[in-house]
Amino acid sequence: MTAQEAQRLIHKAEKLCQQRGARLTNARREVFAILAEHSGAVGAYDLLDQLREVMPNAKPPTIYRALDFLQEQGFVHKITSSNSFVLCSHFDHQHPVQMLICESCGDVQEIQSEGVYDELKHQAEDQGFKVQNQTIEAHGLCAKCH
Ligand SMILES: [Zn+2]
Ligand SMILES: [Zn+2]
Repeated sequence: MTAQEAQRLIHKAEKLCQQRGARLTNARREVFAILAEHSGAVGAYDLLDQLREVMPNAKPPTIYRALDFLQEQGFVHKITSSNSFVLCSHFDHQHPVQMLICESCGDVQEIQSEGVYDELKHQAEDQGFKVQNQTIEAHGLCAKCH
């Protein structure tokens, strides 16, 4: 993502927060900006290190609170299998999340397949299970790495 694109996304996030009556504090905005600079997923402690360059007083709770907020707003997705975080580039609508995670370079691509979502939901319903949200993580090698 170019700096310009990152800037545009931050503006979009600010606007959405305003509409929702949520506050994009400095720490939250900085974490968003750091994630916008990375194409792959970033671990919480790497985020903290980078946040400290602009906010030397940042502590682990600072980063976790910011990440909780960004996830609640749908700006960021968590990659549970590696406890890392990735910016969502189409956060203006709620969507099922499917991640393609490269085991070699750490790149993360998000795809959106309604078919996969519906199929999982139907099969879950057959088991009497009500899906509230679903994140599918696929591990493998990206186009550059195989
Ligand atoms: Zn997304
Ligand atoms: Zn790769």
